[in-house]
Amino acid sequence: MIQTKAYAAQSPTADLAPWSLERRDVGSHDVQIDIHFCGVCHSDLHQIRNEWFPGIFPMVPGHEIVGRISQVGSHVNKFKVGDLAGVGCMVDSCQVCANCKDGLEQYCLEGNTQTYNNLGRDGVPTYGGYSTTIVVREEFVVSVSDKLNLAAVAPLLCAGITTYSPLRYWKVGKGHKLAVVGLGGLGHMGVKFGVAFGADVTVLSTSPEKEQDAKSLGAHHFVVTKDEAQLKAVQGSFDFILDTVAADHDIPLYLSLLKTSGTHILVGAPPKPMEIPAFALIPGRKSVAGSTIGGIAETQEMLDFCAEHNIVSDIELIDIQDINQAYERMVKGDVRYRFVIDTATI
Ligand code: NAP
Ligand code: ZN
Repeated sequence: MIQTKAYAAQSPTADLAPWSLERRDVGSHDVQIDIHFCGVCHSDLHQIRNEWFPGIFPMVPGHEIVGRISQVGSHVNKFKVGDLAGVGCMVDSCQVCANCKDGLEQYCLEGNTQTYNNLGRDGVPTYGGYSTTIVVREEFVVSVSDKLNLAAVAPLLCAGITTYSPLRYWKVGKGHKLAVVGLGGLGHMGVKFGVAFGADVTVLSTSPEKEQDAKSLGAHHFVVTKDEAQLKAVQGSFDFILDTVAADHDIPLYLSLLKTSGTHILVGAPPKPMEIPAFALIPGRKSVAGSTIGGIAETQEMLDFCAEHNIVSDIELIDIQDINQAYERMVKGDVRYRFVIDTATI
């Protein structure tokens, strides 16, 4: 077993604190990665607070992992020691169901194995990237370019792919008006990809002070959703809304901003069920859809796209000792625009 330093929550009410765990030895199809950076996703907070479902404790969050490969199994040919690599939200899936065969491991019909807060197919709990090293089967490891700032690449492994995948699936691009709701970790990547794909991008935000940042990220328009006049001006105007909000919010209000036949894509995952009256959808043939992360091949495609177009996340690099304050800021919507942990501080 591989002794690993980590930060864990011991219960849903505890702060994160130092802990140590054991990773499995590197199997013939495994890769060991020395973690250099790990992004902080709002999902980490939902899960350590048991907001979605009862979690497995102690919990080591973190599914935006980048680092350097330190060991490879005897049958691994895709990677070698010293390569830069990344791991996102999944570390395993059945590999044989129709979805896995289609490159949609995130929708594995047996359920994929999440990078943390899950039991692996061996029955052992998984522990995430707020730690110094991880062992993962090679199929769930992606290659990372050395052209980009490595710390700023980490968030691409979740915030990046979660916004890239639906925009690709719904073919959002030139000629489309896209609104991104919530300028946080996911939202700011949604803006970057929407702009890169050629859409006309509007940020719908509760935070007027983020306007300049939104424009610097490439957004063409900025609407403060608390301002009724600004909202009225964009009624019925969007082809797509990419909704990244982590908290309770008024979906029918956003549906009124869609054009006829428009689609509201949920990637944000607020814990409480949302109410949508039939009459918010029927008169305009509107759709509400959902999407989660992306498959492994698509994650690699997204990373390659980012390397080619020089796209990374805008980050605040933090020491792990500052993680609990970072969570407090995240709850207030005060993330500019992704916290990334320097795991050397663990
Ligand atoms: P985040 O960085 O905290 O960003 C969320 C943003 O939503 C905030 O910055 C804020 O932006 C806005 N917001 C917050 N409270 C709001 C409210 N009450 N009403 C309207 N807007 C509000 O979070 P994140 O890491 O991007 O994650 C966002 C959500 O996506 C979380 O629920 C997370 O679990 C989920 N997620 C889903 C997937 C998936 O696969 N589908 C993957 C990763 C994360 P403004 O200040 O601009 O309003
Ligand atoms: Zn995430």
